[in-house]
Amino acid sequence: MVTVTLLGTAQDGGRPQPGCQLDCCRGLNPDDYRHPVSLGILDQDGNGHIIEATRSLADQLNLWKHPPIHSVALTHAHFGHVDGLGLFGKETLNAKGLALYLSSSMQALVEATPQWNLMVNDGVFVPQPIVSGHHVRLGEGCLLEAVQVPHRAELSDMHAFIIRGPNRSLLFLPDHDRWSTTLAFHESASIRAWLNSMKVDIALIDGTFWSADELSGRNQGEVPHPPVSETIQRLGQRRADDPEIHFIHLNHTNPLHEEESTQYHEVTSLGWGVAQQGMTFTL
Ligand SMILES: [Zn+2]
Ligand SMILES: [Zn+2]
Ligand SMILES: [Zn+2]
Repeated sequence: MVTVTLLGTAQDGGRPQPGCQLDCCRGLNPDDYRHPVSLGILDQDGNGHIIEATRSLADQLNLWKHPPIHSVALTHAHFGHVDGLGLFGKETLNAKGLALYLSSSMQALVEATPQWNLMVNDGVFVPQPIVSGHHVRLGEGCLLEAVQVPHRAELSDMHAFIIRGPNRSLLFLPDHDRWSTTLAFHESASIRAWLNSMKVDIALIDGTFWSADELSGRNQGEVPHPPVSETIQRLGQRRADDPEIHFIHLNHTNPLHEEESTQYHEVTSLGWGVAQQGMTFTL
């Protein structure tokens, strides 16, 4: 049995987001704090593999009950996905020989960043480049497949991951720019067709913003992620043979953080889900 645990549901800034003085973050109860997205995978030998290295690693490993970590995989270089990399080094976890799965563009960035390159030279990480459309064997009964998606690429490209277990497969897609470009990139006519082509049973997908007008100060329609309102409009009602979809990577302003919101009800009444921190999936 391969078990996947969702170790965080928030966008890079976390919840509460530093500096936010709006109602979404001010006076938030610690029970409602959320870590940046990360995924813990337990293979059939009981070895742990983590996707993303966030600054909340201590809390996330507690939540995950501290399996021995054998590998780390990174989707891209935006800060919330990589700012915990240093915690694997000698000042903290003192890891040795961890496989670090990443794209060749991400590997070039690791090697060009002195504090990360030092960790490679010290043997903390052993970079293992992976190519979109190909997979590596993470551990017993468990494959990791990379899927490139268009996303702001100032630092690195972006790869979603599919984790394939003995019985089921799960897509982890925390960030991408917009459905029109992602679907065109994969020559798919619809979200449903794309998910079907990847043969996934569960999809954890980018739910950063509810709507395009959520961010004041940015041009409406210019938010750098597909709004959930658009995603559910494209999907419509869930059908019997559809995968489970759960929205992740929620910005602090996203009303989906609140189970009582009308937006939360709108998602769930169509048969889709809003991911919960700590939820597990058996593959
Ligand atoms: Zn992100
Ligand atoms: Zn806020
Ligand atoms: Zn990003």
